[in-house]
Amino acid sequence: MSSLCVLPPECLLQPFTVPQRLMLGPGPSNVPARITAAGAQPILGHLHAETIEIMNQIKSGIQYAFQTQNRVTLAVSGPGHAAMECAIFNSLEHGESVLIAINGIWGERAAEIAERIGAKVNTLVTSAGGYFTNEEIEQALDKYRPVVFFLTHGESSTGVVHPIDGIGDLCHKYNCLFLVDSVAALGGTPICMDEQGIDIMYTGSQKVLNAPPGTAPISFSERACQKIFNRRTKPISYFLDMNLLANYWGCDDKPVLNIIKKEVAEYFHKGLGEMGLKLFVQDKKARLPTVTTIVAPPGYDWREITGYIMKTYNMEISGGLGPSAGMVLRVGLMGCNSSKANVDKVLEALADALKHCHKSRV
Ligand code: PMP
Repeated sequence: MSSLCVLPPECLLQPFTVPQRLMLGPGPSNVPARITAAGAQPILGHLHAETIEIMNQIKSGIQYAFQTQNRVTLAVSGPGHAAMECAIFNSLEHGESVLIAINGIWGERAAEIAERIGAKVNTLVTSAGGYFTNEEIEQALDKYRPVVFFLTHGESSTGVVHPIDGIGDLCHKYNCLFLVDSVAALGGTPICMDEQGIDIMYTGSQKVLNAPPGTAPISFSERACQKIFNRRTKPISYFLDMNLLANYWGCDDKPVLNIIKKEVAEYFHKGLGEMGLKLFVQDKKARLPTVTTIVAPPGYDWREITGYIMKTYNMEISGGLGPSAGMVLRVGLMGCNSSKANVDKVLEALADALKHCHKSRV
């Protein structure tokens, strides 16, 4: 071998700069200085005493944020998708029946993940912007007799917050585990894991918790542990096997909660109404405070609006996703980003974009 035929890339020799932006999309949100500073601390070994202590602190923080006493509570290394797969891979085995509530893209994705492990996937489907009554859920539980029921708490593709009360009891009546995705909602809208009878719940770090992406808090009730630690087969993923993760996190043992800023979302919704913009979710109580879906203004190309706001204001807002693609604009007000000052900024940017983009009608 004479010489390297792939040369060091020029771009990696340049200083690394990242622009400052106001991140008002459905996540990631801005990360406060206290949290970025924590990330700049020295690296420790994964078995050092200090690391174990930090892991215990993370565990108590998650127990507090989730409002749970569950001993099997930890943070999976990975994005929300990793926690989603961890929850599904560990709680379901090949051939078992699962019921998945689909009112947006996250239910669809859970169904796809469950299908990949060969579970019998049954779905309860409603159109974008809708949600399910407890009666509908009970009928489906009775019909399909699933071992797990999956529900998205904050459907970030449509801006719907799903009611949770009473569903845990229904699941337990039918001997089924209640699995909740609260990636886009936890910390921004109330959820109490133990009180609401949730057996498995996960969230993401980069949404309301205002941390960088890459860690996903997850927790399992005793009822869930009975199932996941007594499987016939090993979970399909080694990395996400709860037998190994629970052991590493010392889960045989035993605060960052953001204040709910519902009034900020309401202030935002009022401002949008005054501008003549319409909210996608009709039912007021079903509006997810952390992600607002605005009906894409008729006559405009939504891409031009989001592009204009990014270029002119250095601010991220986004278009629809999955069933809401092309139909909505999505604005996230998550954690430290949830302030009236930010609402004023995004309202101003939207008003300006509507004026500016008007000429280039589609
Ligand atoms: N579930 C919901 C409700 C989400 O909003 C998201 C992210 N938008 C995810 C799961 C997946 O999280 P991540 O992007 O961190 O993988």
